[in-house]
Formats: sequence, structure tokens, C-alpha cells
Amino acid sequence: MAKDNEEKLGRRNFLKMTTSGTAALTAGLIPGSTYAAESKSDRQINASEKPYAKKVKLLFLGTGAADWPGKYPPISKKLVRGQVRGMSSMLVNGHILIDCGPTVLDVMNRYNVNSAGITDILLTHTHSDHFHPDSIVAIADARDATLGPLKFWAGPEALKRVPNSNRIEKCLVEIGKTFQMHGFGITGLEANHLVGTTEEKCLYYFLEGATKNFLYATDGSWLLKRTWLYLQKKRVDALIWDATIGESAGDSRIFEHNDLTMIRHMNETLRKRKIINPETKIILTHMARTLHPPHDQLEKTLLPEGLIPAYDGMSVVLN
Ligand SMILES: [Zn+2]
Ligand SMILES: [Zn+2]
Repeated sequence: MAKDNEEKLGRRNFLKMTTSGTAALTAGLIPGSTYAAESKSDRQINASEKPYAKKVKLLFLGTGAADWPGKYPPISKKLVRGQVRGMSSMLVNGHILIDCGPTVLDVMNRYNVNSAGITDILLTHTHSDHFHPDSIVAIADARDATLGPLKFWAGPEALKRVPNSNRIEKCLVEIGKTFQMHGFGITGLEANHLVGTTEEKCLYYFLEGATKNFLYATDGSWLLKRTWLYLQKKRVDALIWDATIGESAGDSRIFEHNDLTMIRHMNETLRKRKIINPETKIILTHMARTLHPPHDQLEKTLLPEGLIPAYDGMSVVLN
């Protein structure tokens, strides 16, 4: 019992730390021009080399499902935490953007993120809340041209839909094959999610730094067996779950998105198998506008059980 309380307390302190952390994180971003220091050899690290990224900084640039408005409020409008959610997206160490939907540039603008610092985009899948060609082109064009093209990583079907531009280099993600970038070992894992009737395989991403790692797991429900087999060998420091459905029962979207009961079941299993531990940060994103209560209520009910509902602008440092 005492241990449980300690865990709860630990999580509350964590939240206190991170809810005000955005400014500190964004202030530390390296603008695109400075990033010229990245050498070619850094890009071409042998896949067998050990990850060396020491710090892992996550900044949530959208935490909503597709039923949130595709247009973000103007920066002049004051927002309280979680009042509005952009389409799901997350920035890693200022340079790696996971997903690029229609609201991401506006959210970056609101949280003082310099899009010119983005060198790589990892795409989970091409649903329009995650994949917005105009925003991708805008980010590519914002880069200093002398630094080379923006690298856009995705599965083979998704890559076909990426705009052709000499400012964008298309990079193939093969499921289960680790590649290196910015000191991370990055592995695409198959998600239980479909894009219409296409052949596209939707991806989760597992990023491993020198000492910390995390799984970005949206969109999808449960874990496919192959993905589970991969995770069994890992100890995960942060889990970012698709939490589209909340507490609602009887929603047909459970076949491609999680509800909170499913998340609790998975956490329990991962805990029992020691894949996660009391220190693991369990974060919820991709929350539907119509299936969750207001954010302050979410925090009140979920934080005590160790679930952290993300909000736009939330930053998390793993160290
Ligand atoms: Zn989505
Ligand atoms: Zn989707």
C-alpha cells in the first residue's frame, strides 16, 4: 500500500515538473542553422552501432483524434490546458517530428518551436489527421537548403503519397528493422490499424537512446503479436498510447483504437512481464473530443492511477 502511494506521489510530482516545462524545453531547441553542425557521418552510422542520445525530450504538438477541428485557434486566443487538441504529433529532441497533420504548424507557432530545426519526420500512417502534405512541404521549405533535404520516413505505401520535391528525401521504414538517427535506434512496428482498404501498414515507433527509450503507439488498438514479441525483450521508459475512446463501452472503434479498459489490461500485462515498471511514464494521446471529459477532470481521475493524459504543449524529459 505504502509503495502504491509513493508511486502516485511520484507521478504527481512528475506532472508538476512537466506542466510548466514547455518553455524550458522549447528554449533549448537548436535552430536549423545551428544544426548544420550535424555531420554526414552522423547520418550514416552503421545500424549495429549503439544508440548514443543521452537526453530524451518529448514535446506534444497535438494530442487529439480526428474529430477535433482541423484548424487550430489563432495564437491570440488564450487556451487553458487541454481545452483544444491539435491532431496527434510529437517532437523528439527538437529535430524528429512524429506525424505531421494539418494543425502541427499552428501548434509549433503557439509553443515557440522553430520548424526549421526539424530534420526528420517519422510517419505512422497517412490518415489525414497524421499526414498533411502542405505542412510537410512547408517544413521542408523552412529548412536551410544548404543542410540538405528534410528526411521523411514512412512505410512503402505511405511514401508513394509524399509530395515530390528536391527538399524532401523519402526514406523507407521496414517493419522490425532498426535504423539510426540523432543517436537513436529507431524501429517501426506494425500497428493494428488500417487506412481504408489500402495495403498500407500503419506503424508504431520504438526509439532507443543511450539509456532511455519510449514507444509511440498511435493509431492502433492492442498490440499485434509480432509487436508484442519485439517489446518482450525491452524495458520501456515511456509508453505513449492511443487513447481515442476513453471510458466508453460498446464503441466499434475498439478494433483500431484503444479505450481505457484496454490500456489498463495492456499495462497490467506489461508490468507483470517487467516491460514497464513504476517509473515508466504512461501517457495517453489521440483523445477523441466527444469521448473524453474536460482535461482537468481527466487528470483528476487518471493521474492517481498513473495514467498521464497528454495535452498540447506538454513536455516530458526522460533522464
Ligand atoms: Zn488518427
Ligand atoms: Zn488513423
